[in-house]
Amino acid sequence: MTESNHAPTVDLAIIGGGAAGVLTAIHALCQARPGLQLALIEPDLPLARGVAYATGHEGHLLNVPAGKMSGFADVPDDFLDYLCQLQAYPELDRDALARHYVSRRHYAAYLQLRLRQAQQGSAAQLQLVNDSVSALQPEGDGLRLVLGDGSALRAGAVSVAVGNTLRPLPARGAQLLSRAQRVEAWDYPAVQAIDPGVDVCIVGSGLSMADSVVSLLANGHRGVMHVISRHALLPLPHAEGGAADFDPQPLLAMNLRQRLRGLRQHARQAQAQGLPWQAVMDRIRPLGQALWQSLSAADQRRFLRHVVRYWDVHRHRIAPSVHAQLQALRERGQLQLHRGRIDAVSADGDHVRLTGDGRRGSRLHLQVQCVVNATGVETRGQAMRNPLLQQLLASGLARPGPHGIGLDTAPDGQLLDADGTPHPRIQVIGSLRIGSLWESLAIPELRVQAAQAAQWMLAQAGLP
Ligand SMILES: Cc1cc2nc3c(=O)[nH]c(=O)nc-3n(C[C@H](O)[C@H](O)[C@H](O)COP(=O)(O)OP(=O)(O)OC[C@H]3O[C@@H](n4cnc5c(N)ncnc54)[C@H](O)[C@@H]3O)c2cc1C
Repeated sequence: MTESNHAPTVDLAIIGGGAAGVLTAIHALCQARPGLQLALIEPDLPLARGVAYATGHEGHLLNVPAGKMSGFADVPDDFLDYLCQLQAYPELDRDALARHYVSRRHYAAYLQLRLRQAQQGSAAQLQLVNDSVSALQPEGDGLRLVLGDGSALRAGAVSVAVGNTLRPLPARGAQLLSRAQRVEAWDYPAVQAIDPGVDVCIVGSGLSMADSVVSLLANGHRGVMHVISRHALLPLPHAEGGAADFDPQPLLAMNLRQRLRGLRQHARQAQAQGLPWQAVMDRIRPLGQALWQSLSAADQRRFLRHVVRYWDVHRHRIAPSVHAQLQALRERGQLQLHRGRIDAVSADGDHVRLTGDGRRGSRLHLQVQCVVNATGVETRGQAMRNPLLQQLLASGLARPGPHGIGLDTAPDGQLLDADGTPHPRIQVIGSLRIGSLWESLAIPELRVQAAQAAQWMLAQAGLP
């Protein structure tokens, strides 16, 4: 790093060292000219873990088969090659491994290795900064990055890859519970430390709930696992068989109601041909962004109000083995699913009382010893508890994305300011773009965005 106005200066900076930030760094290192200085800023090391890949639990699986998890769109078998070389699953041949749902912990190690390899083969220099960025300020023809420790860094162009923020437990009194009584689902060691004999209530019934249940089960949990969510919908399983064979393009011209009708019809046709309904979702998966962007704003609102929960369980599916564990627990009554909305929690000695609205206007009362917050990813830009995002919104450098989701971005990912003007030096990737793109969370989208972000930053900073 060089010094300018007392702040060290780099050519490019990537804020966030989760999967998206690391993939962006790899692309920048591979494309950079000699001498380029790149900073990767991440408070929570080791790199590439973020929320999803920080778990070391063998039973926390990728929700996509290994053969589809390459970090690089132009090397589709890269993750598979990595696993084969590692001999991580010697009992599976290559084809079986491609279809297998492997432990998520492998993914961070894979990205870390690819980053090291990119560093070794690059003429550029990567500086790892172990801190968070709390503010971004335009300065001359670049940006000043204020770090958590109060120091600063100057960069010619910046990629914001700060990823997922947990939604807080939506109940009065949550802050007053002890650490043993209130556990975050993404705090994997804390979930594993829950006493197997206690009754728990998991708030939220999506993928984070499934992770928590897997951890509890592996720990020999004996207590009841209450699961509560507004629609009481559990994630559905993947099925083998590949994508159905129909032309999905006509869906893009339909309104929301017609699309839902069309999809149900395709599912019936698939089933008549002996294919599972999942084959229809697999067929439309590559069109996820186009399907969202071709809906009118009114239909997008309708989707968010009435359809999204049903969409999520069909789209964000889990490994069949995880689904089987959930089913077995339900069948023996240890996992009890409740439809409702918790509005208050309170401690009563060792117990936690939860109250809320239940089915058909009834009140819901539960008493457990521990509450697990598995409400998932916070998508509302204004509500994200990340000082950098709050500063960007408060300063007018950013504005909330469509429907208040994430931040607003131009089609190429440039950050839009309060007036809708693209910032020439700031690029956003990942879940902050969900409002604009809808599909902007999983590796198939992130790997494309990361390659584009690296190229864009190099061009903006005049360093192609
Ligand atoms: C539990 C879970 C399981 C998932 N499983 C899969 C899967 O199997 N397959 C799949 O394709 N996708 C999966 N996903 C989607 C997942 O979000 C992406 O695959 C990927 O992890 C997202 O990477 P990211 O870098 O965008 O965000 P994150 O992984 O959240 O990383 C963001 C990073 O930015 C850092 N950061 C935040 N704020 C700042 C700041 N102000 N300054 C500096 N750094 C900051 C954070 O510390 C973090 O390390 C899963 C998601 C979750 C939550």
